[in-house]
Amino acid sequence: MVSGARAGALCSRRDLVAQPPAGAGSAPDPGPPPEGQQRPLAAGVLAVQGSFAAHARALARLGVEPRLVRRAEDLEGLRYLILPGGESTVLSHFLEQQGFGAALAARLGSGELAALGTCAGAILLGREPAGGGPRTGRQPVRLGLAPVEVERNAYGRQLDSFRGPVELAGSFAAFAARLAAEPSPRAAPPPERFEGVFIRAPRFVALGPEVEVLGRHGGEPVLVRWRRLVLAAFHPELTADLRLHRYLLEEL
Ligand code: GLN
Repeated sequence: MVSGARAGALCSRRDLVAQPPAGAGSAPDPGPPPEGQQRPLAAGVLAVQGSFAAHARALARLGVEPRLVRRAEDLEGLRYLILPGGESTVLSHFLEQQGFGAALAARLGSGELAALGTCAGAILLGREPAGGGPRTGRQPVRLGLAPVEVERNAYGRQLDSFRGPVELAGSFAAFAARLAAEPSPRAAPPPERFEGVFIRAPRFVALGPEVEVLGRHGGEPVLVRWRRLVLAAFHPELTADLRLHRYLLEEL
């Protein structure tokens, strides 16, 4: 297990569903993909609370019609699911309703469904820190599927939210290098870096042996993969950079 240091905090629900930070989304929208390039992928977003609309827009920009997942039936035939940032206690309350969490855990656990969990979504996919960590107020019930200990609100309070570089690693760095070689109609982001928007972000304080680090901020893991689950401590949907969404659809 690898331990990370402790630090500060957070996001309000309003911030998560509201405007992207200044500068985000400034790249021109590529618009709908040309005829014949629609991707017939069954990809969805857990659309209960939090930043799901921005993730749905990111999928749409990639030519994938996003399925908004709100009931266990919506998981039928689904291959990719994004669990957005938001408030993990609210999301987990929803998961406890009508067997949704059990249905979701079964599909994720069997590997038939791949997932990208961002911020609160990563908290749900991961596990509680073994040491307990600071626990005040209501706590989310986690799916606990990925062997990653995720400490909530580990960077401090809402005001401690920040943007910062994520240095790419492992198979995501290799994927980004391949994308950098593609002809692009607009300025491509640097292949070795991703801009991280950290909002009341969690920290990955311990990683199991099979966990691959895909990105680091300040030397600490902030983007990790275990099998077909990817956990991001930041919000990739709040920038114009679609590479992580592409990684989900093309590499998992
Ligand atoms: N702090 C939030 C929680 O524990 C997560 C923050 C986010 O999703 N940006 O639910």
